[in-house]
Amino acid sequence: MLKDLFHKKNSQDKGYAVITVQKERSAKELDYAAKYSFEKKKVEEEPQEGLLTCKGCSAKLNKDEVANNKGVCPQCSHHFRMRAIDRINMTVDSGSFIEYDTDIRTVNPLEFEGYAEKLDQAREKSSLEEAVVTGEASIDKSPCVICAMDSAFMMGSMGSVVGEKISRAVEKAIEKSLPVIIFATSGGARMQEGMLSLMQMAKTSAALGKLDDAGLLYISVLTDPTTGGVTASFAMLGDIIIAEPKALIGFAGPRVIEQTIRQKLPEGFQRAEFLEERGFVDMIVHRHEMRDKLSSLLKIHSMGGDINE
Ligand SMILES: [Zn+2]
Repeated sequence: MLKDLFHKKNSQDKGYAVITVQKERSAKELDYAAKYSFEKKKVEEEPQEGLLTCKGCSAKLNKDEVANNKGVCPQCSHHFRMRAIDRINMTVDSGSFIEYDTDIRTVNPLEFEGYAEKLDQAREKSSLEEAVVTGEASIDKSPCVICAMDSAFMMGSMGSVVGEKISRAVEKAIEKSLPVIIFATSGGARMQEGMLSLMQMAKTSAALGKLDDAGLLYISVLTDPTTGGVTASFAMLGDIIIAEPKALIGFAGPRVIEQTIRQKLPEGFQRAEFLEERGFVDMIVHRHEMRDKLSSLLKIHSMGGDINE
């Protein structure tokens, strides 16, 4: 129903998004994969050109070394934030990724002051149209639909287009009987789109409900940080929920919670390990093992649970 509304609004040319002719593009055409596109530090924090400081152990690290180590600190295993396309590239079989919905463009539905400029800046900074990249690919020859959010685009916040792209990807998975993997990273719902952003929580959840009805697997991978409306919707709906080590995962920030409940929060609150202990997360997987873990989960699932077949 929400989707109907989306189309209706759109046909009046005053919608949540502008959709031009759809085309799918291959990995080769993706022109935005920057070489050092994992977490970019602010210039003033960089001690020297080509170096970055690890947030985990404060070591001064060579950017190349970190990039070659999949964005993981070689000394303390701190997981740097990653760009969506790098994450997809390191997860899927080389050349197998076909991107969906490259031509949906976010507009300013509420005419929120300064939003159009913010969008332009985000496009420029991230070389992306929105905060999620969706498509299909294979992982160790197992086909799947894969979505990766990108914190370089307005902190991975979820507006109408992010919700629409994820919902469409899930619907495509149902159509093709494919499992879905979503790598989440988000500051939450995008305030500049107000209620329309909050509606995406219901829309993505409803799409995943249909995926579940179709008996298809959904693996949610929580990466640092996964917060707000994304945590409160599709990120927590995985049949299997994986998190990267030490990822911040929560709804409201710790300061807001402390002020509300007037209590000091326990050590490690909202970190992946804390949530795993309490059953919110099924497993914590090191980035170096992520592809193998996803591959074996997809294979077990496609065999109907019989791993000896
Ligand atoms: Zn480190």
